[in-house]
Amino acid sequence: MKTTEVLVIGGGIGGLTIALKLVQRGVHVTLVEKLPGNNKVYKGELLQPKSMQIFDKLGMHDLVKNSSKQIDVLDLIELDRNNLVKDQSFMDYRVLPQPYNASYMIHHEELKKILRDIALTFEEFTYYPATSCTSIDGHIAQMKQGQETFEIQATYIIGAEGRASVTRKAMNQSVTNFTYNHHFLTVTFPRPENFEGGQIISTYNRFLGLFPLPDNQVRSVYLIPAGEYKKIKEKPIAYFHKLYTDLAPAIDGYVQELRDWKKIQLMIPIKYHADKYTDGHLAIIGDAAHAVHPMAGEGMNMAIQDADVLGELLADILDNKTSDISWYEKVRRPRVSFMLQMSHLSALAYSFPYQSVSWFRRKAFERIEEDPTLHYKQMLNVSGLGIWKESIQDRFIQGGLLPKRMGEVSLGVKEKHVFNDQQDYPWKRK
Ligand SMILES: Cc1cc2nc3c(=O)[nH]c(=O)nc-3n(C[C@H](O)[C@H](O)[C@H](O)COP(=O)(O)OP(=O)(O)OC[C@H]3O[C@@H](n4cnc5c(N)ncnc54)[C@H](O)[C@@H]3O)c2cc1C
Repeated sequence: MKTTEVLVIGGGIGGLTIALKLVQRGVHVTLVEKLPGNNKVYKGELLQPKSMQIFDKLGMHDLVKNSSKQIDVLDLIELDRNNLVKDQSFMDYRVLPQPYNASYMIHHEELKKILRDIALTFEEFTYYPATSCTSIDGHIAQMKQGQETFEIQATYIIGAEGRASVTRKAMNQSVTNFTYNHHFLTVTFPRPENFEGGQIISTYNRFLGLFPLPDNQVRSVYLIPAGEYKKIKEKPIAYFHKLYTDLAPAIDGYVQELRDWKKIQLMIPIKYHADKYTDGHLAIIGDAAHAVHPMAGEGMNMAIQDADVLGELLADILDNKTSDISWYEKVRRPRVSFMLQMSHLSALAYSFPYQSVSWFRRKAFERIEEDPTLHYKQMLNVSGLGIWKESIQDRFIQGGLLPKRMGEVSLGVKEKHVFNDQQDYPWKRK
């Protein structure tokens, strides 16, 4: 039987981040990944500022930055019935304190490769691709690699397997999916070189998100009513092109590079939150523990943040600096709950195809852009760097019931709401 200090099940972004974090602290990690190579399914590609801070601590900030497309500003464009611009507002990452005041788009598989390549330089890291964990019994996990089966015994087992988690099952945890009235078509295709910022383009009943990737590519998400995918796919591909070019003329001549429906995937948003993240020597991170609506671009970032906190904690536990694994959940659960709710509300803002909803959305975005406090709160909460909840006063300002504030937020006030190391790793204070 093979033995290891920490077994990580799942080599997605969450599993690879925690593995790298642990091997850098001298912990012996074995990671098993069921896929033999690249995953063909589109997944999260937007890195929020907190993820960049975590990658900085892991010594890979510049590597990630140089493989990404930096996004400073996200334009929110609302069109009228004739697809003419009715309103335009923006969300600006540059209001955040430096140096983590931008987001980055990176190909998902490229980010996995960066993490894996660095982890493989450590002799403490053992990697089994094309290996599936089939069950866990106590400290022993059963593996299947082709026709072969074998066992791995571990002091700690981390479930980073995504939505269908063997570890969550071993913890006797089930999750209840919340589903939405809409799905998304998602695909990456070439973009004009000067298509720089992120764009969310909507009418009262349509939604298109465009997020530039490196190599003059752009990732897109287009909202469709739940259950319509089959019907839409029966139409000629030109129908799909027109859905996009009606809303974003700038990509005319580029989206047509998609010549059939094969590359266009269906993305079904769901939301769930496991009741427990740990059970003795077992713990779950990322999508194994929670799934979030993709509207705010948080899924992959939440997996990275889980990995950062749990990785730091496990390394300290194995170093006899603390013994309490429940710190992981104490730090992460409130932050995850907040993100789930924030993403859920963002999703609802685009879920109902009524003119009145579109009007409220436009007003709210306009106020967020124009009121520096609201703008900062919005960007901080999205960034993952901290949480500054909206007050009743904020809600009234957003709804136009109170006048907007004009004063800038001072750097001191901004930084007060950014998580510090003591909040990220509170057990270290003891
Ligand atoms: C179809 C889809 C599209 C998405 N698109 C977006 C998006 O546009 N924007 C966004 O923000 N988020 C998106 N997400 C969410 C985001 O990608 C995830 O939140 C993020 O990837 C979570 O990372 P993770 O490491 O927890 O899990 P995953 O990325 O799911 O990684 C889990 C890994 O574990 C492996 N695995 C599973 N079971 C086993 C097993 N038994 N043994 C060994 N290995 C196993 C899998 O092969 C996989 O590589 C999407 C998710 C999905 C499923």
